[in-house]
Amino acid sequence: MGSVDSQQRVLSGMRPTGRLHLGHYHGVLKNWVKLQHEFECFFFVADWHALTTSYDDPSQIRENVWEMLIDWLAAGVNPGSATLFVQSQVPEHAELHLLLSMITPLGWLERAPTYKDQQDKLREKDLATYGFLGYPLLQSADILLYRAGKVPVGADQVSHVEITREIARRFNHLYGREPGFEEQAEAAIVKMGKKNARLYRSLKRRYQEEGDMEALETARALLGEQQNISLGDRERLYGYIEGGGKVLLPEPQALLTDASKMPGLDGQKMSKSYGNFIGLRESPDTVEQKVRTMPTDPQRVRRTDPGEPEKCPVWEFHKVYSDEATREWVQTGCRSAGIGCLDCKKPVIDAIVEEQRPLHERAREYESSPDLIHAIIQEGADQARDAARDTLEEVREAMGVVYR
Ligand code: SF4
Repeated sequence: MGSVDSQQRVLSGMRPTGRLHLGHYHGVLKNWVKLQHEFECFFFVADWHALTTSYDDPSQIRENVWEMLIDWLAAGVNPGSATLFVQSQVPEHAELHLLLSMITPLGWLERAPTYKDQQDKLREKDLATYGFLGYPLLQSADILLYRAGKVPVGADQVSHVEITREIARRFNHLYGREPGFEEQAEAAIVKMGKKNARLYRSLKRRYQEEGDMEALETARALLGEQQNISLGDRERLYGYIEGGGKVLLPEPQALLTDASKMPGLDGQKMSKSYGNFIGLRESPDTVEQKVRTMPTDPQRVRRTDPGEPEKCPVWEFHKVYSDEATREWVQTGCRSAGIGCLDCKKPVIDAIVEEQRPLHERAREYESSPDLIHAIIQEGADQARDAARDTLEEVREAMGVVYR
């Protein structure tokens, strides 16, 4: 595992869909901004993934990549704190995908819940392709390439992390074995000193006999702190906790993120395809116009008709943006017809415009200088490639394709 602390590494990517909206901001980007201060984060634009479904019309991909990157930066994702890159600029993703494809049973991919699902949803496209079938494996390669221990995902993506875990397990099982593994692991334990050795053994026992996950985590942390053992020994001991061979590719954990609470203008989920969104860099005028024309409780036809917030999409926005006092004012005013719908929408408009102010400011800098984004992405690709090469070196070695 080299000097990589997997538990500290986070990997996340997004398909380049062009400009993002407030649903992405509240659902994903705000979380990234938080994570970038807590972990070593790799955030990438999944342009190859876009090709798995848009191979017949790739004309938009490039433009979409730039627009999306500006949105990331506008949201506060910081290239000084996280590594930002474009997948295709790190060709190691493709090599690991290929190598892992050798050991991936076809059934795992065919059974992936999204495989049939997406084919049904995108009926107008011919998705009976090799690339589309393999996209969960490409995702696994994306994660394993950085030996990332944490992958922020929504509940619908957990199955992809699960496949990745199975692939890592299979890989470690096939290639992590070496002659004399146990003897070498035992010798390595001794090198940690008496106290640590005793602790390691007891944690290992707790994990193996009782399945105690906390013991597993503590043992991993203990190994991370050891100065006296070589990198090879550390890998052995990581694997020895679980009983197998060396852990060449650590199994990632899903870092469950709450589904975005951001509703669309019509009360459905905010989505580009429903046309019910507010763009992340929408101008204040457009925000105002979009909110002013939002539908409200259909029972409230005239200003004098009382309404019911629970039946109104504007209320959903108040849940995201308003404080307790404003919400109280809405509830009472709506039900008694004390306030009009335009009055009610005003605090929402103000809150969104206020939220977007710093985003606009940050975006302006990047919108006017594409060179700046090119430089960020170039640097990000270099950093990502460094990490990726380390992994691939070990993977090639393990699979016997090294010629030196
Ligand atoms: S007053 Fe507010 S909550 Fe009530 S119907 Fe109008 S917009 Fe909706």
